Amino acid sequence: MYRVRLFAVRHSRAFERVYRWFENCLVALDPLFRRIGYQRIEPFVAFVERLSKSFLFDCKMCGQCALSSTGMSCPMNCPKTLRNGPCGGVRPGGFCEVKPEMKCVWVGAWDGASRMKHGRQIEIVLPPVDHSLKGSSSWLRVSREKAADLREAREAQRSAVAKAFGSARKHEPATAPLAPEPGKNERSKS
Ligand code: SF4
Repeated sequence: MYRVRLFAVRHSRAFERVYRWFENCLVALDPLFRRIGYQRIEPFVAFVERLSKSFLFDCKMCGQCALSSTGMSCPMNCPKTLRNGPCGGVRPGGFCEVKPEMKCVWVGAWDGASRMKHGRQIEIVLPPVDHSLKGSSSWLRVSREKAADLREAREAQRSAVAKAFGSARKHEPATAPLAPEPGKNERSKS
């Protein structure tokens, strides 16, 4: 729906906020999703994603959502499916070269990005579309990757602390004394 698409660009800041909140929820649900199995959840999440994003952004379910980087203007609606800026054939007034009745997706993208908090992401060059991801849930893939990164960072932090504690105990026992074994003191007293 073209009108709704334009509305989303005009309210890109609000959509950005909602998406960040939603993504945090998905990341927080990672332990549950892993227990159930991401493969099992995928069809349901993809269905909801397709339904909501088709209505709001004319989403084509490319599986590598760029909305956060393109001012909530889906680049897959560009007749040339350009993901890194306009083609150079933009008509006066910002209209598309191929579909003159439609505003250029990239004109919308710059407009939307200028309203967003993290709008400067539009300056980052996006990789080419990986067609093997078409139809899959972008929400789930991104949140799963973020949750895995968080887990890895937590694990690295834990092992760094464990290592530091071990070597501190070896070189300077007083700085990291062993906790008294329960019952040991009582035994020595008696
Ligand atoms: S970039 Fe891809 S996933 Fe995002 S709205 Fe467009 S087609 Fe859908």
